[in-house]
Amino acid sequence: MPIPIKPFMHSCGECGWKQLVEPRGDVLPFLHKSCPDCDSPNLQKRAPGLLDTLRGKLKPARRIPW
Ligand SMILES: [Zn+2]
Repeated sequence: MPIPIKPFMHSCGECGWKQLVEPRGDVLPFLHKSCPDCDSPNLQKRAPGLLDTLRGKLKPARRIPW
């Protein structure tokens, strides 16, 4: 039985870049080894806050068009 992986924030300790990582099932998502913005290897994982989770679920296509 696969153990569900909880979503987490992958963030850069240098420039503030961050990404909400939501694993699907037992498939491991792609993770950056270094920051895509500043190339720092100082990346951190932490539990997402409520705002991070909400922001991650909002897709631009779902925005109300007015
Ligand atoms: Zn960075």
